[in-house]
Amino acid sequence: MQQRTLPFTYRSLALASCLVLAGLCLLTTHARAGTANAADSTINKASWFPDTPDVPHFRWEQRPCPSCTELAPTDNWRKMVGLAGLHGIRFLLAPNDRAGMAYAIPPATIVLSPTAMKLSGCALNFVVGHELTHLALRHYDQDVVTLASLSHQTVTPGSSGDDVIQILDSDFPLALKMSPYWEAEEREADWAGSLLAAQACGCSIEKGAIAFLRSAGNEGGGIAAAHETDKERIRELKPFIPSAHILADSSH
Ligand SMILES: [Zn+2]
Repeated sequence: MQQRTLPFTYRSLALASCLVLAGLCLLTTHARAGTANAADSTINKASWFPDTPDVPHFRWEQRPCPSCTELAPTDNWRKMVGLAGLHGIRFLLAPNDRAGMAYAIPPATIVLSPTAMKLSGCALNFVVGHELTHLALRHYDQDVVTLASLSHQTVTPGSSGDDVIQILDSDFPLALKMSPYWEAEEREADWAGSLLAAQACGCSIEKGAIAFLRSAGNEGGGIAAAHETDKERIRELKPFIPSAHILADSSH
């Protein structure tokens, strides 16, 4: 996990509910299109996956990444896309780790770094599941609603989400107020992402999230942090271990 110190700048740039990873994808990467369109449309959303919140949709500008390259999703990623109730997710490979190990860009893009691609199979699947959860539960739209409320602004559905998020760049106290909301989103992405990896890929939480967090080499937290410390994240994931085992066993 990367240090999430002063995450508001990062969030305003990429709204990156970022996670973090490392490891090489040991799964087969098929030479398919960069988006998970076809296969995921045949997979039903998992019945246990949280409902998409009833929050307005905001407009998000496309953020071109000229230096990124298209990344073909693995079959397991495509399964997770479907289980999360998503479709048409675009995967990109960043040229370096400068913007973080992995992050989601609203409304439908996941960027993985070279370091992320070196993670073990289940650790990488957990990271992808984590980012898919951010997109599926539209945490970026939830952030706009929360930010508008905390800053006493009125927002109109369909208006620019970027404009609201940008106020964080110059409002550190507001970022501090957002921290507990971001942490709640991260906890949700951690457990739901772990269960996506379990059902789609047969990955236990021990081999996925916990292995990743123990190898990430940082403590998380920090000023106005989005993520709690890795130790705390592991503690909060432990109640989900039995459920993940059931889902992982049923995936075989
Ligand atoms: Zn996250």
